[in-house]
Amino acid sequence: MELGHFIGAKRVAGTSGRTKEVFNPATGEVIGHVAMANEEELKAAVANSAHAQPAWAATNPQRRARVMMRFVDLLNRDMDKLAEALSKEHGKTIPDAKGDVIRGLEVAEFCIGAPQMLKGEYTDGAGPDIDMYSMRQPLGVVAGITPFNFPAMIPMWKFCTAIAAGNAFILKPSERNPTVPIMLAELMIEAGLPAGILNVVNGDKQVVDAILDDETIQAVGFVGSTPIAEYVYSRGTASGKRVQCFGGAKNHMIIMPDADMDQAVDALVGAGYGAAGERCMAISVAVPVGKETADKLIAKLAPRVEALKIAPYSAGNDVDFGPLISKEAMERIKGLVSSGVEEGANLVVDGRDFTLQGYENGNFMGGCLFDNVTKDMRIYKEEIFGPVLSVVRAESYEEALDLPMSHEYGNGTAIFTRDGDTARDFAARINIGMVGINVPIPVPLAYHSFGGWKRSGFGDLNQHGPDGFKFYTRTKTVTARWPSGVKEGAEMTIPTMG
Ligand code: NAD
Repeated sequence: MELGHFIGAKRVAGTSGRTKEVFNPATGEVIGHVAMANEEELKAAVANSAHAQPAWAATNPQRRARVMMRFVDLLNRDMDKLAEALSKEHGKTIPDAKGDVIRGLEVAEFCIGAPQMLKGEYTDGAGPDIDMYSMRQPLGVVAGITPFNFPAMIPMWKFCTAIAAGNAFILKPSERNPTVPIMLAELMIEAGLPAGILNVVNGDKQVVDAILDDETIQAVGFVGSTPIAEYVYSRGTASGKRVQCFGGAKNHMIIMPDADMDQAVDALVGAGYGAAGERCMAISVAVPVGKETADKLIAKLAPRVEALKIAPYSAGNDVDFGPLISKEAMERIKGLVSSGVEEGANLVVDGRDFTLQGYENGNFMGGCLFDNVTKDMRIYKEEIFGPVLSVVRAESYEEALDLPMSHEYGNGTAIFTRDGDTARDFAARINIGMVGINVPIPVPLAYHSFGGWKRSGFGDLNQHGPDGFKFYTRTKTVTARWPSGVKEGAEMTIPTMG
């Protein structure tokens, strides 16, 4: 498989001469190459988009919404094909790959309501013969840079909203799994999107820098690791763009003594190990309150982690999770687990030596469970992004609350309790963007907005939902006077309506 770019409604070969290998993480085999765009290729894609965008912005929002309507149907039609292509390059199970597509589809569905989202405000009679109204206008050409872990969902979060709002969109997906983003772009064209409104440019830092410095691109939405998020935010804003960047995470789940322990254990198994922990909303720290709660939790959790079924997606729908994205990721995660052992944490389940017959070159690793983790350890401070759950014991609710409060990341968190009072207090006080109450992965639905706090998010607005439309539009406010009769004389003081 040789993959180039998608520009002007068709696949085009790369011209830079640079490519990167694409792997099947379950076998370690190279299954293709993807082109790495240079600045000239980016400029050509942007020029193509800039040419197409004014006519798209002038297309009424209802017609733009109909493209989204057809796109939703096409996603459903091609669901199996998309999931298979996604699993092959990412490694996640087929049901999880379908979830990846569906969570993006839901944003496309929300964007069918673009006419409603784009309505402005109107004040009739704001002053004598004066009316005032606001409109939300698209920005022009905008871009999105997305990570490997949701190759369908995150591109769709961004391009559906931006395009429904009347922009042209340049997508720079992860170079690790580039097939699905191009399939999505083809489906958008099949759904009736004009050429140039969605262009996909593959590449790495070189093209990201070109996007950030480009003078035509008005806004950039980024999702990925925190160091790159911070870099993209500062370089993009320095060149005068509107930028929102979502970064890494360390999501804590607090388990109160009154929690339903079986529910809490189920939640931790799914949220800690699903997709091999390669989710920015994965739970990576469990905080049981009180010794009895902690002992019970570990006793129930350990056998469940040992029993996880780890296999390639092709092994069937009962697989719990598949391989990690790359050899480097696997070595980094195993290294972090070893650092936890060296720093004195108790490794209750050790998945470092896991191997799968017939897949010895795949990036497989078993689930790991740590007990007695403390705040000073690397496994607590750093994002691991693998199938590793750390239990940090707390003696009281206040001590438990202080852990996520004082961590540098602020993406998601959860509390498991039967006590409404504690749950309300937690939701009110916690300094984290997305909060679950007896829900371990509180990813907001399409019609709300997604975003973390602290070093998990840079910029003012969240992604998709109402914030997504705000991010990809700007407000213009018109003050109109239609005087009756003839008025004379200049107004020398600032007009007020008093
Ligand atoms: P990454 O930061 O390595 O890559 C993200 C994007 O940035 C990719 O498109 C990549 O090509 C580009 N990139 C990589 N290095 C770059 C550089 N030096 N300069 C410019 N661009 C560069 O992230 P990843 O490994 O693909 O994804 C995993 C990370 O994403 C995790 O940290 C995870 O928490 C985070 N994530 C966050 C959210 C969220 O909404 N907060 C969602 C999903 C993933």
